[in-house]
Amino acid sequence: MSDLKPITVSVERYLSLNKYEVDEGSPHIELTDEPSAAEFLKLVRVCPAALYKTDAVGARSFDYAGCLECGTCRMACGDTIIESWGFPAPTMGVEYRYG
Ligand code: SF4
Repeated sequence: MSDLKPITVSVERYLSLNKYEVDEGSPHIELTDEPSAAEFLKLVRVCPAALYKTDAVGARSFDYAGCLECGTCRMACGDTIIESWGFPAPTMGVEYRYG
């Protein structure tokens, strides 16, 4: 019998602690003009910040503003629908905070 007790972790709560300096004029991640639905769905599934979204009618959206700079999307689709991926300019992007 395990002594481990179940715990509940709120990813949203931890992400909300971070601070972001968004470089509005210079996105550090850009997608191709007509990203394939199958490739985009990969990003919906793997982005830990849930920045790639599809709505009820299938419209797709992406907002780099909450990016964690983890590089997962680059690994998943860097040779398909990620047109460019780089880190934000110095002093921009995510500042991790732990509560
Ligand atoms: S780098 Fe990570 S957090 Fe940022 S968009 Fe890609 S998968 Fe999401």
